[in-house]
Amino acid sequence: MALVPFDDREGFIWWNGKTLPWRDAKLHVLTHGLHYASAVFEGERAYNGNIFRLRDHSERLINSAGLLGFTIPWSAEQIDAACIEAVRANGLTDAYVRPIAWRGSEQLAVSAQLTTINLAIATWAWPSYFAGDKMKGIRLAISDWLRPDPRTAPTASKATGLYMTGTLSKHDAEARGFDDALMLDWRGRIAEATGANVFFVINGDLHTPTPDCFLDGITRRSVMALARSRQINVIERPIMPEEMANATEVFLAGTAAEVTPVRQIGDYTFTPGAITEALVRDYTQLVQLPPEEVARRLA
Ligand code: PMP
Repeated sequence: MALVPFDDREGFIWWNGKTLPWRDAKLHVLTHGLHYASAVFEGERAYNGNIFRLRDHSERLINSAGLLGFTIPWSAEQIDAACIEAVRANGLTDAYVRPIAWRGSEQLAVSAQLTTINLAIATWAWPSYFAGDKMKGIRLAISDWLRPDPRTAPTASKATGLYMTGTLSKHDAEARGFDDALMLDWRGRIAEATGANVFFVINGDLHTPTPDCFLDGITRRSVMALARSRQINVIERPIMPEEMANATEVFLAGTAAEVTPVRQIGDYTFTPGAITEALVRDYTQLVQLPPEEVARRLA
């Protein structure tokens, strides 16, 4: 399949308050965000014309920026409206939405106090992150890269710089024939995949690592609520890699990945089963509901 470059497409991109033709949404090469990773972003999905948990994403974007020491000059309400406008301008109802905020080009050195903060929002159709027969499950390699100590990096931020080891891990996994990588943390505990959180079914309970040095995903929290409504016991705790020997089912949860069954991690194998199937179904149904109903279900 021919790749359509992301800078050469039809459509519109929301850019600092204006709706620009897609190809005009360019920035200068001497931009602080590019050189020093002073940028934060979001990944959202619109279903049936509604962006799922939009306010949570807009608030996380604002918080991510705060953790990097800058303030986005738009409120959560304004960012919500801009995301909705970006989807509408492109005539989409089911889409991936990518807001990104970055420090501009007024200064180009480590110090960046005088840079302006920019915000752009693009949106495009992105059907399934892991293509193929979904319920068969994907295969993950265990990465050599570790999620850092929160004293080493602002790990609660969805900051671009934190994706450096994500891309290295994913490329290494793909070179070895796997779909994605499972990353451990700085203590050797299980952390997450490169763009999604991870869940394990152990003795009928749902276990997931405590998000103390990686993103506490919005999908992760939705899935935990869905599992609890099914009376499934959900346990957040530190999980060591050896414990994967006791897991019968494993899945990933993330905005792009949605709920994706996993059949292998390193040498451990699993069989996607009843709990995974139920949560794939519940999540697929939840995202189609109007925002008020989503809020009610997750309350
Ligand atoms: N971890 C990482 C590294 C991610 O990139 C994502 C996707 N944003 C997630 C977890 C899941 O987060 P969410 O469910 O909010 O999309």
